[in-house]
Amino acid sequence: MTQKRLVSPSVTRDVVTRHGFQFKKSLGQNFLIDGNILDKIVEAAELDENAGALEIGPGIGTLTQELCEEAKQVVAVEKDGRLLGVLRETLSEYGNVHIEHNDVLEADLHAIFAEHFSETSEVSVVANLPYYVTTPIVMKLLEERLPLRNIVVMVQREVADRMAAKPGGKEYGTLSIAVQYWTEPSIVTRVPESAFMPAPNVESTVIKLKVRKEPPVQVKDVNLFFHLVKASFAQRRKTLLNNLQSNLQPKREKDVILAALDRAGIDPTRRGETLSLEEYAKLADELVN
Ligand code: SAM
Repeated sequence: MTQKRLVSPSVTRDVVTRHGFQFKKSLGQNFLIDGNILDKIVEAAELDENAGALEIGPGIGTLTQELCEEAKQVVAVEKDGRLLGVLRETLSEYGNVHIEHNDVLEADLHAIFAEHFSETSEVSVVANLPYYVTTPIVMKLLEERLPLRNIVVMVQREVADRMAAKPGGKEYGTLSIAVQYWTEPSIVTRVPESAFMPAPNVESTVIKLKVRKEPPVQVKDVNLFFHLVKASFAQRRKTLLNNLQSNLQPKREKDVILAALDRAGIDPTRRGETLSLEEYAKLADELVN
């Protein structure tokens, strides 16, 4: 049975007031109060009765309730201990949810998966993320190679644009390449500030990252590939050659870098932001010793 939906200004205000809860800006606490946006997030996650859902930052349980309705098992990782009593109340009707009181960046996600998602099909991450830690959270989800299907997250608009950016623009950078190497990003919807309580002073976007079975490019050494990308963007105004000379580790001589660029068919005066994933892959393979 569905409990009263929390996603409205009056219900959210009532829960918050009754529990004497004070919002903490430092924890990115902006709770969703727009039902249309909530529905779009849940729909984009494509959950079914066999699926698992991992939520990061359940807040008072607004999105969590919907996930409990749609998925077989839900795990919600919440850092703020003051919300545990609230969540006990708002999720009391659901037997398929586990609240993990932890900082998601400290949490052992593989252990959580082994304990709570052994009986589910693929797991999706569905969350209205705390913006102050969006990039570390997304990078952790990608780099830990968890068996994920989709990552559907509310993030700051600029961060979503960086994740989905194509080569050539100022949004394109290491985050774009990491996200696009592991996933296929697509923008689900733009979200106005009025969709939250309290309203943040930035615009938001829901983005869906469909986790790839295989990366779109094959490389001999994945660590070298990402190290190369990072080095190429170290100083955005510098040419590729200059960045690589200063930032590649272990250091390579100028003529070694020039020869690798030449074999990969890449002009050394180009800037890192103009190279496609394929070009980075080609260059990384030319730099393998
Ligand atoms: N899901 C709720 C909603 O949509 O209304 C709340 C979203 S609010 C933007 C972010 C939530 O993340 C808050 O509940 C906050 O306490 C929690 N949070 C902040 N930092 C966290 C961290 N490092 N690990 C886990 N949760 C965190």
